[in-house]
Amino acid sequence: MSNRRREFIEYIDSREPVQADNDISDRADRLTEIYDSDTYGLNAMRETLPSHCYKKIREVMQTGSALDPQIADMVANGMKEWAIKQGATHYCHWFLPLNGLAAEKHDSFISIFPGDDKVLLEFSGMQLIKGEPDASSFPSGGIRSTWEARGYTVWDATSPAFIRREKNGAILCIPTAFCSWTGEALDQKTPLLRSMEYVSNESIITLSSLFNEKHKRISPTLGIEQEFFLIDRKFYLARPDLVNCGRTLIGAKPPKGQEMEDHYFGTMNSRIISCIQEVEWKMWRLGMPLKTRHNEVAPGQYEVAPIFERANIAADHNMMLMDILKNVATKHGLVCLFHEKPFAGVNGSGKHNNWSLSTDGGSNLLEPGHTPSQNARFILFLTAIIRAVDIHADLLRASVAVPGNEHRLGANEAPPAIISIYLGGELDTVINNIINNTDIQAPGSDDMDLGVVGFPPLPKDSTDRNRTSPFAFTGNKFEFRAVGSSQVVNFPCIVLNTIVAESLRFIREEILREMKVSSRQTAFNKIIKDTLVQHVRVVFNGDGYSDDWKDLAKSRGLANLPSTPEALANINSEKNIKLFSESNILSPVELESRQEILFEIYNKSIKIEANSLYDLVSTLVLPACFSHQKNIAESVNSIMPFIQSQKSFSQPNHQYAHLAEVVESINLLVEANQRLLSLIKQSKEFKSEHSLSTFLNQSVIPQMNEVRKYSDHLESIVEDKSWPIPKYSEILFLR
Ligand code: ADP
Ligand code: MG
Repeated sequence: MSNRRREFIEYIDSREPVQADNDISDRADRLTEIYDSDTYGLNAMRETLPSHCYKKIREVMQTGSALDPQIADMVANGMKEWAIKQGATHYCHWFLPLNGLAAEKHDSFISIFPGDDKVLLEFSGMQLIKGEPDASSFPSGGIRSTWEARGYTVWDATSPAFIRREKNGAILCIPTAFCSWTGEALDQKTPLLRSMEYVSNESIITLSSLFNEKHKRISPTLGIEQEFFLIDRKFYLARPDLVNCGRTLIGAKPPKGQEMEDHYFGTMNSRIISCIQEVEWKMWRLGMPLKTRHNEVAPGQYEVAPIFERANIAADHNMMLMDILKNVATKHGLVCLFHEKPFAGVNGSGKHNNWSLSTDGGSNLLEPGHTPSQNARFILFLTAIIRAVDIHADLLRASVAVPGNEHRLGANEAPPAIISIYLGGELDTVINNIINNTDIQAPGSDDMDLGVVGFPPLPKDSTDRNRTSPFAFTGNKFEFRAVGSSQVVNFPCIVLNTIVAESLRFIREEILREMKVSSRQTAFNKIIKDTLVQHVRVVFNGDGYSDDWKDLAKSRGLANLPSTPEALANINSEKNIKLFSESNILSPVELESRQEILFEIYNKSIKIEANSLYDLVSTLVLPACFSHQKNIAESVNSIMPFIQSQKSFSQPNHQYAHLAEVVESINLLVEANQRLLSLIKQSKEFKSEHSLSTFLNQSVIPQMNEVRKYSDHLESIVEDKSWPIPKYSEILFLR
């Protein structure tokens, strides 16, 4: 073991769990009081705003209605007073540009009235509602030329402002949408809000016209299970691949991986749990209802999950959670890795998006009901979802097409790259009964007994123990499991909201049309049945990891798109342009810009990885191998006089063979690395992002795998003392 690695290990061995900053961790009895205290939510508003103003802003927050500019000044003032009490000297518009990160620019509250020398603390309604960050350095996918770089941010009043505390002060963060001056969305929040509105409206109209139910608003809900790795910071800093790419590019399989299945749900390590506890207290203060935590399957892998919330709030909270996990981990001498596949050979990380639709009264539209009418409603929504997923599987696949996910989807640890729906046995029977012509209950006519069709009460827990499906019904919600752990959840959620809304609309219109010539009952039955017959091919309840499924899916005409370039290629097909522009979620320009950005992100990531690998091998791995080679050669040489002096002694052929293996492996590694370099050079010749992505995927990545193969082999034979970077056995197991 190299001296450096030995030092790390001794250091890590002596590390203790780190205490949280604030002395809140031992005050569980104050949790209900502390919860949400770092947000300017309804509680803080009630305390700081005049009651007529509070009522109005509450309405805005609950219904998403427009904000009256007259009250904006009052809200801004209340917010400022509250924030200053929390220690904030600055505010920022917090937004989600298309680079996959959160962005912010801080302004202090100070102002000086001309002619005075006294400083005041000010914050106006205008400053609250609108900001104008320079947008030129954010990705726009060609929407906005840099010479007209102005963009602006607009307050999302439905997501509460919050306080970020740092060692020497605090910042008031105001969640905002980010648009170009010409009105195009340059962010992830704007289309999410639009898609929430769309699915809300289509659900409201459907429920009112077919079921005579009146609702003001229907919200998509999201419960996001977040997986991640926590590793020691010392190891991280000594691995240029982790620092540059967030994943290891080389690393021999350790003698022990996850085969003992001893990590999942195991007792949590003290340093790890202390870190997660600090994160939880911070998130609870920010009003994120974090609920569960546990060890995940791979060594060093963990998961936390909140109670579900309205989709835009859940999405904001997930971004805040990722930021805070990263920051707090650093303080604890750890690093939090969100990459989908930081280590080969053990499981990667995902981010299960549990999705449903909820009425304003909190009733879940994907909860199978008790009455025939509720059941009919459930069947209608289910049918709409089945149709949506079948027609728009390409979009769901594209929405999870980030570089890291390529290692995970279809790699026997995560859902395959074929989008299908898992319904579970009971529900599958129901669907098949409908398809096979057994009657279903028409909306609004409660006299029919649904018992006939055998729609059994669904025991929730038996619905899903199939972890191999990308999109599974889990009793009262769908779980979109293909989302990558590093992803901003907005795009997958935008796609879900939009395709389900479009499908609801389609089915509703079909039923209403049919009702002109037949009874409500007949029309409902006919359209539901026809739709299911047409789209049931997307339902698959078997083992998604099996090869049989690949063949079966192919025979059903379902797409299997394992690579990112393939998955991104059709985002702006005619079908998708129509879907997004008719619903006003994304204009053709906005859609195309997103595709362009996704290609760019893919290409940049792979190029960074290829360059990092080349450097790592040339500057760290090969020198270690050369010195090892020299040692063996010298050792063999040094025994030559002895061997020659002994007449009866046979040649040390095994040692020669060992030396030959080392020489040969190094040779192959040098050659493979040189070939990688020439491919990197070749990649500079591509003009379009799309063709570049295909080249990177089909030529550069396979070559990186070649380099890795030789490097990993050498790692397993080169003297441990010479190996220059921490090994898997150290990174994954020592903490
Ligand atoms: P598991 O998937 O491990 O069995 P659960 O099903 O209890 O765990 O919950 C997983 C996540 O699903 C949690 O974040 C939970 O809040 C969320 N969830 C539960 N109901 C809904 C819903 N109606 N809409 C969205 N998310 C939900
Ligand atoms: Mg789950």
